[in-house]
Amino acid sequence: MVPIYNEIESIPHLLQALSSSLTEAQITYEIICVDDGSSDGSDRLLKSSALDRTDLCAVLLRRNYGQTAAISAGFRYAQGEVIITIDGDLQNDPVDIPMLLHTLEEGEYDLVSGWRRDRQDTKLTRVLPSKIANWLIGQVTGVRLHDYGCSLKAYRSDLVSDLNLYGELHRFLPALAFIEGARITERVVTHHPRRFGHSKYGIDRTFRVVMDLLTISFMRKFLTRPMHVFGLFGLIFLTVGFAISGHLAYVRLVIGEDIGQRPLLILAVVLLLAGLNLFSVGILAEIAMRTYHESQDRPIYRVRQAIGPNRSGL
Ligand code: UDP
Ligand code: MG
Repeated sequence: MVPIYNEIESIPHLLQALSSSLTEAQITYEIICVDDGSSDGSDRLLKSSALDRTDLCAVLLRRNYGQTAAISAGFRYAQGEVIITIDGDLQNDPVDIPMLLHTLEEGEYDLVSGWRRDRQDTKLTRVLPSKIANWLIGQVTGVRLHDYGCSLKAYRSDLVSDLNLYGELHRFLPALAFIEGARITERVVTHHPRRFGHSKYGIDRTFRVVMDLLTISFMRKFLTRPMHVFGLFGLIFLTVGFAISGHLAYVRLVIGEDIGQRPLLILAVVLLLAGLNLFSVGILAEIAMRTYHESQDRPIYRVRQAIGPNRSGL
């Protein structure tokens, strides 16, 4: 499954490399290329290639939605038991695919992630931020991988159908999968410098990664119980707010001092309002969470396997 955005020069090489590596390893496969609204003619090339070849399915998106959406579309169209994602710019090497597949089957993993140990990108703007990001993601999500950003990954397809992607969450697929209880591991893969075209990302990606990280860390802990976090802070704020108000009321009514000039008054008001707000958001989040699970018939747990008569399809 390949997301493609303006990679016209790479496409022929990519298709060639994919089919030769997979045929050699005697793997039954289908290549799914998702064109993410390219403007360089990649879409036309993919379309004509898909008409020529029997092993290629081209999915053309109407405009550029970003890599996450492209990957998500690819997952939708994939039919195999295992889905491999790979970049369309020839930076990943299709030769590694059989090894990833083997690891997946061998260790009964749900996800095998590539690790670009010898990464061929600019050191300062790409490799360093990615090192920091990887460490952070590891800390926050609890999944220890060296390289979340590597696109070359193998997934069991039933795992993927459980994942919903938003923002730029494709980077966090292992973390999301981990939340869903997946068994994850990583293997070192080859990485090449970009031969054609240019990278679609710059240093600004770091900011988006941090924001997505916040979302993920919240989801991991509180997806099914948002009130536990909002309610707790709401309660603390309200309690402190009431305590200060009580104190001020005492000062004004019993001692008879003027309280209009006191900064504490503002603090009390802010705390009360903020506390009330947090509580309301918590209740709304609870309702939203229920809608999220119930409307899609999403249980709050994930079954790995059920063994017994007629239990497999559940
Ligand atoms: N890509 C995409 N939509 C976008 C940006 C990128 O489908 O909006 C694809 C791109 O064609 C490539 C992959 O995502 O196949 C990774 O992009 P890139 O190589 O630019 O990222 P980098 O390797 O520099 O992290
Ligand atoms: Mg690349």
